[in-house]
Amino acid sequence: MRKAIKENIKRKLYAESMGRCMNPSCEKELFLTNGDIVEKAHIIPHSDTADNSFENLILLCPSCHTDFDKNSAFTEEEVRMWKCERQKQVSQIFAQKFDTFEKLEEFVKPLLKENKTIYENYYLKDKRKLWEKFEEKLLINNQKIKCLLSRNRDLFQKHPNECFSNLAIIDQLILHIHEFESTRGDDEKIRSVLFPEEVNSIFGLEAYLEGMLPSVESLECLISKLQNEDKFIEIALGIEDPFLIYKEQGEYVQLFLSDSPRIRQMYFSYHCLKRVGVRLESLNFALKYLDNNHIAFKIENCQNLSNVIVKGKPFKFIYEYCLSNAELISLTPKKGLIIINLHNWNGGGCISNEAYQQAEIMDVTLLTMDDFYGYVQNLK
Ligand SMILES: [Zn+2]
Repeated sequence: MRKAIKENIKRKLYAESMGRCMNPSCEKELFLTNGDIVEKAHIIPHSDTADNSFENLILLCPSCHTDFDKNSAFTEEEVRMWKCERQKQVSQIFAQKFDTFEKLEEFVKPLLKENKTIYENYYLKDKRKLWEKFEEKLLINNQKIKCLLSRNRDLFQKHPNECFSNLAIIDQLILHIHEFESTRGDDEKIRSVLFPEEVNSIFGLEAYLEGMLPSVESLECLISKLQNEDKFIEIALGIEDPFLIYKEQGEYVQLFLSDSPRIRQMYFSYHCLKRVGVRLESLNFALKYLDNNHIAFKIENCQNLSNVIVKGKPFKFIYEYCLSNAELISLTPKKGLIIINLHNWNGGGCISNEAYQQAEIMDVTLLTMDDFYGYVQNLK
């Protein structure tokens, strides 16, 4: 009796074929909705060596299989060459180099989206039979994704700390794809590298809410770049899950500010990574206080998020360990401005006495966070 071909060898063969007959002058589609036509041919006949290795097997359509086995239309060497040729062809088509992340995204996003749909509809719902059928599709998509990502690693945001690095997530995905190809479906649970969910966030498919990146300045820069491209719609701050809305290929996209893999990637590809001046979390906290207390506020200019109008009065939020006289002067505040220091770690000490004196001369108001709560309540 013939020994069955191992499941992991089959998976590698599906991935290798990219779903088409391996004969380069045929390339017929093998996985069809009305019944697959895929056949596994032995390069050196099974009767000679019983060799079921990946190297000795090739996926062909039934007619090429017959031509090879029965009609001797091709030599073993020719057929072996097809394997090399397909590999080369795949790298040429799917290992394209892009100059921007947006262009890479156009190719990768539909593949990830299809995989996600297959996974959610068949794997999670335990429709095992259909899952096995669609698994071939996954293997082929994965092969394309792997080629594209490996060739364009430089387009991903990276950070020496892997917890903040999209490139580390992408490398993990490449490893996962490699494992997915070479392990059996039943070994799913012991697969050591699982699909990193953050990938869907990086490509804007599904939010992965982790926490807000600290820099208000990076966010302002992103807004300004989006405005330049006529893509920016609005920003919502002062709520539990702040977000911004922008337009992408005619569609409105809601981007949560705590969807950090996606935000990191956007900051990186728009060249907006800036050092932290004002902390976003603290600014949002203060604005949330206003919102919770039904005190209406308005962000004057989306490129300057820490300038806010509250009940007709101009507020400016800053973030300084201790506001000095010199720093106050460098802000060149207009008369009547209310400056709030969000930095609350050393209480009343976050504003120097000299700064208070200078503020009187300038006719501006300086508030610590503790002062702020009372001050805005009186505006009600
Ligand atoms: Zn064929």
